[in-house]
Amino acid sequence: MKSGALREVVLASGNAGKLREFSAILQQAGIRMIAQNELGVPEAEEPHATFVENAIAKARHASLHTGRPALADDSGLCVPALGGAPGVYSARYASLIGGEKSDQANNQRLVSELLTVEDHSAFYIAVLVYMNSPDDPCPLVAEGRWHGRIVSAPQGKNGFGYDPHFWLPEYGCTVAELDPAEKNRVSHRGRALARLLEQLSGTGTPT
Ligand code: IMP
Repeated sequence: MKSGALREVVLASGNAGKLREFSAILQQAGIRMIAQNELGVPEAEEPHATFVENAIAKARHASLHTGRPALADDSGLCVPALGGAPGVYSARYASLIGGEKSDQANNQRLVSELLTVEDHSAFYIAVLVYMNSPDDPCPLVAEGRWHGRIVSAPQGKNGFGYDPHFWLPEYGCTVAELDPAEKNRVSHRGRALARLLEQLSGTGTPT
């Protein structure tokens, strides 16, 4: 790579919000992100039981289809007292029992599962995987966790997913009541991104 030139990396997601957030941070490591849908990459399967396996599958898929380095993320909510559920099924938790695939239905199921459970502690997790090629044997893996507690009454309008039910004791509000810029800074994804940036900067651009 010529000095000053940005390295192009495919983001294994079509989510415009993620593209903006990831681009802003990774520019500091000399990386320009391109969304996989701009390059005609179809959605990857996410068949695995762990976030890290799904993130690797998505990064490998994007790299295979484009011949470029790829970055993928996989994230969700885990409630230890529910055995880690919703876990990798966070986006479709209600549909596993015949409900809708919507945030509202997922939240309803979560709250009802917790009715008979005492411990409502929970964490969001994000796993980021950077691969130089589809058969890169040494992908960079960065994880971020954000701890809180599930409350039964929703509060706040910001964010998405489980945010109105995710209480942050250190802020005294739910994630949906938090300023979005603050969420980006301290969230599971923000923490994972900061760690990935350290790895990318520490090793220089991986070769
Ligand atoms: P994805 O990895 O971005 O597709 O997220 C999977 C699912 O995890 C989302 O559909 C949400 O249900 C949940 N999730 C992940 N991150 C967040 C968050 O920051 N707030 C609320 N829900 C989240």
